[in-house]
Amino acid sequence: MRLLKAQITKLALAGTLTLLFASTVVWANQVTSVMTSDVQANVTPAKALTMLKDGNARFVSGNATDYDYIAQVKQTAKGQFPFATVLSCLDSRILPEIVFDRGIGDLFVARVAGNFTNDDILGSFEFASKLAGSKLIVVMGHTECGAVKGACDAAQIGLLSTTLASINPAVTAVEGHNPRNSTNSGFVQAVSEMNVRLTMKTLRDRSVVLRQMIETGEIALVGAMYDISTGKVTFFED
Ligand SMILES: [Zn+2]
Repeated sequence: MRLLKAQITKLALAGTLTLLFASTVVWANQVTSVMTSDVQANVTPAKALTMLKDGNARFVSGNATDYDYIAQVKQTAKGQFPFATVLSCLDSRILPEIVFDRGIGDLFVARVAGNFTNDDILGSFEFASKLAGSKLIVVMGHTECGAVKGACDAAQIGLLSTTLASINPAVTAVEGHNPRNSTNSGFVQAVSEMNVRLTMKTLRDRSVVLRQMIETGEIALVGAMYDISTGKVTFFED
C-alpha cells in the first residue's frame, strides 16, 4: 500500500517523538540513590549475596543499571554504607563494581595479583566488616589468571616472585595433573579454585575478628570464580 505524503510526515514525526521520549526515559531512569545506614542495616549476609548474584545476572544479560555517578558522589560524600566486600585479582578485565552492576559506595574492593590475602588486606576487611557494616566477603578468583599461571610455572621476576609465592600453597595442594604448568589449563583452573579456598581458610584462621563475625552470622564468607569469557560469576556452593 502506498502511503500519502501527509501520512509519511506523520509517521516521521511520531518516530522523532518516540526517540525524544525514549531518551528522556533513559535519562529519567538513571539511578542516583546510594546505600544508606538504614538500607545497610536491613541487608543480611544472604541478602547481600542475592544482591551480587542479581547484579551479575544484569551485567551478563546486558541490562546493567544506568548510574548517575556524580549524583552518587554527592550523596556518598558524608558517609559510606557498603553491603559487601570483594577480594579480586589485579586483572584489568575484572572490575567488581561493574561485574556486579553496583554503584559508588556499594562495595569495598581489594585487588592483588592472584587474589590471595595478607594481614594488610585482612585488617582492611576487619575495618570493612566490623566498623563499616559490610555483610559479606567474597573471595573471587577468575579463569585464565596470569598470576596463577606464573605461580604454576614458578616464575622468577623481581618482587613479583614474592607475590607469586603467596599462591604456591595452592599449587602444592592440587594433586595430580600432568604437566603441572601453565600449558595445562585444567591444572591452572584447579589451582585457581584451590587458591580461593585456601585464601578463605587463611581469612578465617588469621583474623579472629572476621572468624567470630562469621561464626555469629553477622557476616558471611563465600568463594567465587569469574569467567573472563562470559562475565559470569559462579559462587561456590560449599
Ligand atoms: Zn588474575
